Order: sequence, then structure tokens, then C-alpha cells
Amino acid sequence: MLAQINKDQYEKLNDILRLARANLKNFDESLIQRAFFMCYRAHEGEKRASGEPFFHHPVEVARIMLTELPLDGVSVAAALLHDVIEDSEYTYEDLVAELGSEVADIVEGLTKISGIMINREITQAEGFRKMLLSMVKDIRVILLKFCDRLHNMRTLDALPEHRRLKIALETRDIYAPLAHRFGLGKMKVELENLAFKYIDPEMFELIQQKVRLSRGERIAYLDKMIVPIKDDLEKQGFKLQVQGRAKHLFSIYNKMRAKNKRFEDIHDLYGIRIIIDTERISDCFAAYGFITQKFPPLPQHFKDYISIPKHNGYQSLHSAVLGPRGRVVEVQIRTRRMHEFAEFGVAAHWRYKEKVSRDDATIDTFLRWARELINDADSAASFMEGFKLNLYHDEIYIFTPKGDMKTLPAGATPIDFAYAIHTEIGNGCIGAKVNGKIVRLNSELRSGDRVEIITSKNQKPKADWLKFVVTHRARLKIRSAINEERRRQIEQGRNIWDKMVSGTKKLLSDNDIIRQVRKYGIKTPADFFSALANQQIDGEKVLKSFVEENRQQPEILPSDRVAEYDEYAEAARQLPEEDKKRGKRDEVTIQGLPNIAYSYAKCCKPVPGDDIIGFVTKEGVVKIHRKNCVNVTNESLLKSERVVSVSWNRKVETQFLAGIKVIGEDRIGITNQITGVISRFDTDIRSMSLNARDGMFIGTVMIYVRNISKLQSLMDKIRKVQGVFSVERLSN
Ligand code: MN
Repeated sequence: MLAQINKDQYEKLNDILRLARANLKNFDESLIQRAFFMCYRAHEGEKRASGEPFFHHPVEVARIMLTELPLDGVSVAAALLHDVIEDSEYTYEDLVAELGSEVADIVEGLTKISGIMINREITQAEGFRKMLLSMVKDIRVILLKFCDRLHNMRTLDALPEHRRLKIALETRDIYAPLAHRFGLGKMKVELENLAFKYIDPEMFELIQQKVRLSRGERIAYLDKMIVPIKDDLEKQGFKLQVQGRAKHLFSIYNKMRAKNKRFEDIHDLYGIRIIIDTERISDCFAAYGFITQKFPPLPQHFKDYISIPKHNGYQSLHSAVLGPRGRVVEVQIRTRRMHEFAEFGVAAHWRYKEKVSRDDATIDTFLRWARELINDADSAASFMEGFKLNLYHDEIYIFTPKGDMKTLPAGATPIDFAYAIHTEIGNGCIGAKVNGKIVRLNSELRSGDRVEIITSKNQKPKADWLKFVVTHRARLKIRSAINEERRRQIEQGRNIWDKMVSGTKKLLSDNDIIRQVRKYGIKTPADFFSALANQQIDGEKVLKSFVEENRQQPEILPSDRVAEYDEYAEAARQLPEEDKKRGKRDEVTIQGLPNIAYSYAKCCKPVPGDDIIGFVTKEGVVKIHRKNCVNVTNESLLKSERVVSVSWNRKVETQFLAGIKVIGEDRIGITNQITGVISRFDTDIRSMSLNARDGMFIGTVMIYVRNISKLQSLMDKIRKVQGVFSVERLSN
């Protein structure tokens, strides 16, 4: 195989191995060699836009990796092969076979994020950054991506203008901020300057020229400070390096724009950086003390990023002093380790060769460990191997066909996505295409998927969907659509039934209906009506069974019942006037006691439609309770009083008093919202009481309603008020 490569390639390989030997400690030389040859074979004959052989690109990326972010042999091998899956015949499996799964996984990760960025317009940069990170499980993938992008930016001239601009914008908005996030100061500056060069070439040229022209003057000026500072501090026993530095072009440009200033009006173009070879943080503060004895400090510029590092782990002492001729000069003071961390971020610790292994790290914890390692050179644990990043893995980022991005929780399905776009889209969803392919509605979406929802006007949300949706919004919307549909069906079914019954002059209570349809497996009147609406049951047949039943059982009361009736009727005659009137209202039928006086139990306040039961009291009045009232199961009551069966008559026009209990969050305006819902429902409130405690409130509302279905739909409306946790019938 060696025989096949020419002198140019041989030199390139040697160059890489030389750099690896210089910058890496332990690495597998044969792994890099095998990667190099595979890279050459994979891209053989291909050319870059510039005309040079394609394989120069991966070789350069590997070189950048070795100089800017020297990590390990595996990442150098991955750098050499990073475009192989995307651009050649070789597959992931080929890579595993040739170089092992560690290298193959990194290359595959990189291929995935490149694929995502193709044909995407960056509309929500922060979302894109999170999306990329959510796809990265091995930190080497993103670090390698920075190197790849840096080489592409360095050679961007070869591309046509429209592609240059797209790549430059992506670099400015996605990769440079990410590099900053990882603490890669040097990488960030170069990416930003190169992006600036292609985004606004004229402005770039102008600023670059002005900086260049003032360079001689700047160096001469700063030398007047650097030399005495260095001498002074060395006399104090410090070992240090003092650098003059200029603000980078992109940040000058930003400052000009943000403050609306001319180049000449930017004063903090220069600065001095003092890097002390020390392990002691206190040396930085001591050095600051010595410097300010010679150059007066501007305390308002003092910032201590040593005690409180920046979010990305950056540590340094920042200040400004008055230099010769009263000019403001920025001063940064840091230790060698802090400096390396500022320049190379997470990669800096490889300089110290410590390794530590962790699962499930976020950038923040990763950076903290890296920083600790830098401060603890003796740590011997392996840092990189098995280091699993946990970056936004609980979120996924999904695109609409138009390229808008939606953030969803991990595990979200096309239904969740459909509801995230619009309730109507969710309700009408009959299918979904993910990246152009039809998928099942319960399939899990992945970050970067482009999802197209297929809808139909005839579709209705399915109860099944509740089994797999993960978003609160989807769940809520599906439930309410299903409830809505059910209500509609019950109403429709009742109308059908009413029409059928009206011809027969028969008054049939809900209990009568249930008796007849139990054999079809129907347990509640609501189920019966909805079955009727859905044509799952034949209404005529049910009606016929009533006629037959009546033929078999003529309505003759047994004699003992008649006696009872007389007895109780006598008692009823002695009742106060009001209760007698009640008895005449004919709201209920009491089995066997047609004319007995009755009243409704105060404890459970039944309304028409409730399952009810009666107790004949000592006074000879029937007290009507809801069947599920706690007092009904009270044994002493059951023993002492006679139970009679009671059913509601249809067409009850009276308003009944019912009580409901509302529990919710104690937030401003919630009671107004609840009373608003009730009054819009055309219902009278008799009383309302509220008790708030510990951020919760418990409210009791007494209202007048006609029947149970009215009450239930009111309760459903109250349930939808934001902050309401539960709504129940009052029963005590
Ligand atoms: Mn590449």
C-alpha cells in the first residue's frame, strides 16, 4: 500500500505523524496511518472547488486539530475520515471494520450534523445551536466540526459568492458562538473574523487597513508600557510573559455599530495581557497591585473573572489603566493555565494529559471538570474515554416544511408536532411524512427531522393518541376534542330518541332505557344516546322491547303496595303546605307511591339525570338522595328507613340547586374567570365561598341548574379555566 502513495502524500502523512508526536502523548500511530490511507483511497480522483485534490482538505483539518485542539489519536483519525461517509462509497460499517467503532461513531456524528445544515436557512440561531448540540453525544464531534469549518472558512474564496455568504452567516451565527460557549477563544476569533470578511467585505477591508496602518504606532506605544511592567514584575520574582494585543476586527466592527462610532473613536483598541507562570491565583492580584503603582487604574473597569469565572469557564483579571499621554489601556492578568483555557477551552486539559471519565455531562459540568483538571495536574483518571455529553438531549428540534423550527420534548410524535403547529392541524391529522417518508403517527421524531402533516377535514382525534403523545398541549387538545365530540353525539342521540318516543306517548325514564339496553352491553343513558347517534344500536328495536315488556307486565300494583300507599298518603296529608306543593310537581316517580310527598336531601342535592334513591322517613316523606351519596351507604339509615326506588320524570323544567367544589391555584383573577364562565352559561349563582391557603384555593359554588348534563357541561367549562385543578360535585 505504501508503494501506491507518491512523495507528496508521503510527506503529508509524515507531517501529521510529526505533529502528533509533538502534541499528543499516547496515541496509536498505526491508527492514524490506516486512517490516512483510507482517506486517500476514499477521495481519490476527487477535486475541491479550488482544483486541488479533495484529500488535502481532510489532511488540513487533521493538522488544524493537531495544532489548535490536540486531543487524541482517535480524533485525528476521525478528522482524516470526516467526509468519507458523506462523500465516498465507504459506509459506517467499513469504518468500523477498518478503524473501530470509536472513530466511526465520531465520523457518523459529524455526517449527521452536516446533513442537517444542508438547505437550511438559519432563522432561529439559538434554536439551531441547541439542535446541533442535542445531536452531539461525543464532544469530539463538535470540536472536529469547528476544525472542519475553520478550514472551509480559510479556503472560502474558491466557492461562488452565494455559497460563500451562506457559509459565512452560518459560521457567524452558529459555530462562532458555539466555539465561544466551549471556551475556545482563539477558534472563535478566527471564525468571526473570517465570517466578517465574507459577510461585509468592504467594511472588513476598511477596518483591517486602519488597524494595519496604526500597527506600528500601537506597538511603539505599548512597548512603553510592556517593557517597564515586565522589568518591574520580574524584579518582584514573577516569571511572566507580557503581550500587546489588539481588539479583533469583528469585535471592533461590533463596537462601532453598537455605539454608532467611527473607527477613530474606539479607544480600547489596545490592551496588554500578562500571563504569569504560577499556580497561585493571588499572584495575579499582586501583579495588578504593582502595575497600578506605576499606571493609575480606572476602577470602574475592574472585573474579577478569576473568583467568578464567565459562563464558559473563562478566568482572568480585567482592568484598565491610564497609559502614557493619558490613554486608556486594557489590562488582562491571568495564570498560564487560565490562558490556555481561554485560548483552547475544553481542549486545554489535554496539554496536561489528565483524563477523567464521566457519563451524562452538560457543557457546564464538562467545563468545570476541565477547569478542575487544569488546576490539578496530577489527576490521572482518563478524561476523554467514555465521556458522554448530555446536551439538550431532553429536547428535539423539528422543522416544518417551510423551515420553521419547533422545539419539542424528546419522545414527541407527529401528533405532538401537529398540535404544536395548530389545534386544527392536530385534530385533522391523518398521516405524517418525516423527511419525505410516510411514518406511523406514533413514531418518535428526532432532532432535525422535517415533518409534514397530512390532514383531512373528516378526521377526528382518537382516544388512542393519548397513549403515545408526550406534550401537555396535545393531550389537552385531544381530550377536549373527544369530550366535545361525545357531548355532540349524546345530544344528537337524545334528539333522535325524543323524536322516536314522541309518537308513542310513552314517558320513559333513563332507568327504563338502561333496563332495556343492558343486554347490548350499554350501562349509561349517555352511552345509549351516543350509540344511537353512531347507529351502533337500533332505536326502533329498543322501543319495541318496551311495548312487549308492557304487554307482559300490566301495570297493576300488588295489594301490599296499595296498603302502603294509603298509609303513607295519610302521613303526607299531615305535611306542611310547602311540601305538599312539592309533591304535586311531579319531578320524580316513586315506585309504588305515586302521590307521596318528597323532598331532596340537602347533603347531596340531586339534580335530574343523577342516579337517585329514596328513603321513607318516619314522617312519611320520601327523602331523595343521589345513589352515590355517602349517606346512602350509612348503615343506620339503611336499617331504620325504608328504601324506595325513585326515577326522574322527563321534561322537568324546575331549576335545581347544586353544589360544586373547585380546587385551583390561588392566582389573581381566577375567581373572576370562574364566575365569568358561570354567568356566561346563563346560570344563577346562589352563593360562592372561597378559601385560599398555601397558594391554593378551595371554592364552593352553589348554582341553579336544570339537569345533570347542564351541570356537567358547566363543570367541564370551569375545568378549562387556567389554574383550575379539579371540579367536583359537592357531597357531604
Ligand atoms: Mn469537511
